Amino acid sequence: MESWTKASNPNVDLPVADKPSAVPFAVTILGSGSASPALDRHQTAQLVTYGNDHFLIDCGEGTQYRLIEQRARPSRLKYIFISHLHGDHYFGLMPLLSSLNMGGRTEDLFLFGPHGLDEIITTTFRISNGKFFFPLHFQAISAEKPALLLDLPGLTVESIPLDHGIACTGFLFREKPPKPKLLREKLPDNVPVAVLKTLKEGHDALDETGHTLYAANEYTTPGPAPRSYAYCSDTRYNERIIDQIQGVDLLYHEATFRDDNGQRASEVYHCTARQAALLAQKADVGQLLIGHFSSRYKSFDEFLTEAQDEFTATELAIEGQSFAI
Ligand SMILES: [Zn+2]
Ligand SMILES: [Zn+2]
Repeated sequence: MESWTKASNPNVDLPVADKPSAVPFAVTILGSGSASPALDRHQTAQLVTYGNDHFLIDCGEGTQYRLIEQRARPSRLKYIFISHLHGDHYFGLMPLLSSLNMGGRTEDLFLFGPHGLDEIITTTFRISNGKFFFPLHFQAISAEKPALLLDLPGLTVESIPLDHGIACTGFLFREKPPKPKLLREKLPDNVPVAVLKTLKEGHDALDETGHTLYAANEYTTPGPAPRSYAYCSDTRYNERIIDQIQGVDLLYHEATFRDDNGQRASEVYHCTARQAALLAQKADVGQLLIGHFSSRYKSFDEFLTEAQDEFTATELAIEGQSFAI
């Protein structure tokens, strides 16, 4: 399991996992409050960075300001994932799209979200006579079963069906196994480029008769272990997701309530900190981040205490903090 560390900002000091050859992969918490507003807390949004790719997960009210605060240029976003259509997860989307439009964006933007989100956007812009100057691609997500949403050269993103009363999904970012590293010092200087390419792909280099010239396991070392991040948005305690998130390096899971509201949590399709930790323990994840704290609680310490009772490797999703995966 890859260890992860806190870093202050993904754009300033690049958070890199402990292996130097790993592509920088991090999540920055832009907001971890729940629906009711509270001073100095913000509604849900996270910025995931993988190499040069920027992904936004959920977009609560004011998210564009949180991005600017983190010195993450909104124009760098290419992929946006919306978990569900409760306002605290998407009311920041229209202003963000509008600003991107005014800013002269021309690059494609890929938006993934529940059925109906496209209609909301179209209606909003149609009534105000707005026009998009950049291609906005929308893909509706079904909350019935897990689906592959995005397949990039370095990673994939899958949906995680959740139990929240309305259609709601989480998102699982899985790095593809990195290519092996070539041991150049072991190879003669005059090795053809085609051989180097073959070895880098992890295959043996053969001669015309099919005999091995250079064995991949002798002239390469395996790349770093692939990493994964699961984001579980609003949900009731739901053991059905365990198989899908089994062994992820970092799990974010909502923890709206503490033990004192255990009954209420289930009634309103949310979780307690202890339940989030129980899932993390059952899914054998590396680390747990909890957030989506109800505004009724004035401090977060007891969320952590209750969660760590079940799963010690738990941290609070404190706004403004970045976590390298
Ligand atoms: Zn919410
Ligand atoms: Zn919700």
